[in-house]
Amino acid sequence: DAKDKGRNTFSFYTEAFNQRLMQRLTLEEDLRQALRLAQFVVYYQPKFDLHSEQISGVEALLRWNHPEKGLIPPDYFIPLAEDTDLILPIGEWVLHTACMQAKAWQLAGLPAINMAINVSPKQLHSPTFDQTITRVLLQSGLDARFLDLEVTEGAVMQDPDNIAITLTRLKNIGIRISMDDFGTGYSSLSYLKRFPFDNLKIDKAFISDIPLDEGDATLVLTIIAMAHNFNLKVVAEGVETQAQVDFLARNSCDEIQGYFFSRPLPASKVEQLLKKTN
Ligand code: C2E
Ligand code: MG
Ligand code: MG
Ligand code: MG
Repeated sequence: DAKDKGRNTFSFYTEAFNQRLMQRLTLEEDLRQALRLAQFVVYYQPKFDLHSEQISGVEALLRWNHPEKGLIPPDYFIPLAEDTDLILPIGEWVLHTACMQAKAWQLAGLPAINMAINVSPKQLHSPTFDQTITRVLLQSGLDARFLDLEVTEGAVMQDPDNIAITLTRLKNIGIRISMDDFGTGYSSLSYLKRFPFDNLKIDKAFISDIPLDEGDATLVLTIIAMAHNFNLKVVAEGVETQAQVDFLARNSCDEIQGYFFSRPLPASKVEQLLKKTN
């Protein structure tokens, strides 16, 4: 009896495991195919400068335009892409596409804005990362000063010494570096002096309940003051309400990003917005 149970348990786990493995293999194959068949698309979410009251830049956000499932958000496939190293070709495709887009807007006579691109830990740790960046800039013709790389705390803490060297090299060719999702990871304040960040993005988790939640409001004020003392610009992400905008503007936050100003948009919609706003 106990043996039966053991066997059943065993086969149960094997089946569940096989099923997970199969799903994963299909998704992995689907992801490869997505890249081959050009099913990825980049949306762009504006960042609004509270001082100049203009769009300072956009952030490239990847979506997968699946033939049956429609637009799939990145949280569904970036983790697997990261596990399987597929993030390297996918990430390079995003870099290439977004830099080409930024250059195309400039050539079309639109006001020049920054292009922020999310960089995953695997990309950042790749020994050829800076070659990839240099190549993409050359291919697109985009000036380095318009490129802004968003990295998370988790990505830099894995190998801080080497990442600091890589980021400093990129910074020296004029690229901007942003600390993304600040406050959600193992935020160590020492990172702020150790890495050559230009911008600090406060994670939306700290923005959603301001100004009513006094604890969050205090946290946000403290982060803004601290970032400014390190000469970093502060971007608040996930800004959805007028009350949040007022609080952030009153308290010297530099830029806001979120559904209040604009959702992530297809490139053509960004063009219209740029013409209207800047
Ligand atoms: P992230 O870089 O922190 O991007 C912000 C996310 O918050 C985006 O989700 C954006 O659509 C969403 N968001 C913006 N404003 C608001 C708001 O007002 N309210 C709420 N509730 N959400 C808002 P998205 O596009 O689903 O991307 C999720 C994450 O996927 C990104 O977080 C980023 O870490 C990752 N990701 C996206 N594109 C890429 C990429 O090309 N490469 C890599 N490595 N990661 C990417
Ligand atoms: Mg980001
Ligand atoms: Mg973020
Ligand atoms: Mg975030």
